[in-house]
Amino acid sequence: MTPFKYCYGPVGSWRLGASLGMDPISRPEKICDYNCVYCQLGAREPVPVERAVYVRPDALGSELEALKAPADYITFSGRGEPTLAANLSRLLIECRKHRPEKTAIITNASLMCSEKVREELSAFDFVIAKLDAPNAELLNEINRPAPGVCFDEIIKGLILFSKGRRNRLAIQTMLIGRNKAYALEFAALYVKTLPDEVQLNTPLRPCPEKPLSRNEMALACLITDAELKRLGKGGIKLINVYGETAPEVSPVSARETLRRRGKT
Ligand code: SF4
Repeated sequence: MTPFKYCYGPVGSWRLGASLGMDPISRPEKICDYNCVYCQLGAREPVPVERAVYVRPDALGSELEALKAPADYITFSGRGEPTLAANLSRLLIECRKHRPEKTAIITNASLMCSEKVREELSAFDFVIAKLDAPNAELLNEINRPAPGVCFDEIIKGLILFSKGRRNRLAIQTMLIGRNKAYALEFAALYVKTLPDEVQLNTPLRPCPEKPLSRNEMALACLITDAELKRLGKGGIKLINVYGETAPEVSPVSARETLRRRGKT
């Protein structure tokens, strides 16, 4: 067995602490139904919204067994959109057989309109769902999704998931030049979808988009915070990438980590 074909890290994450990555896609090419302008995996035409099996659970199990590095979370993410893995639940079960840590998944939320996917996501301890656009036009401009991915359906899926869940939900928004002026519109969507936490990010890893400065992020946080309070939802936790510290963690396999994150 090639060691660590499906697992990578652990990495120091500003949102998850020591995070051991588990990639349910693990393909050389990116498999995602988005093609975000800031994607650290590079540009590639979005794949159709069709789920498939990419990783065998027993192969993942052997790898998790061999990997002894401690972590705060086992995080499902990697070279594409993890909910495109048709055997996501089976992989999560396998993961829990071998590791005691809490589990997280970082999803672009495009499949959350599916009841089955929402059910699968509800089995994770922590779901981090992407929302980079306050409307359909910016979704097409920033995330450049596959045909059939619809802004209203994503919001509907997030609302339904949030209502019925028992686990922790964060909404992450990647702020760049094109969406930085929409803090009020985003705040209204956070109130509609009611996550426990909002994570404001900006692309600090190598990619074609310029990140927002600390001052620009501070302004976005200020407006978001004030608007959440005005709308009576000041209880939603608001964090941003410049305001959090990631722990120092050494990855077991720097190569596999670099392939998925663009940095170790
Ligand atoms: S959703 Fe994630 S993996 Fe997919 S294109 Fe966007 S940044 Fe890249």
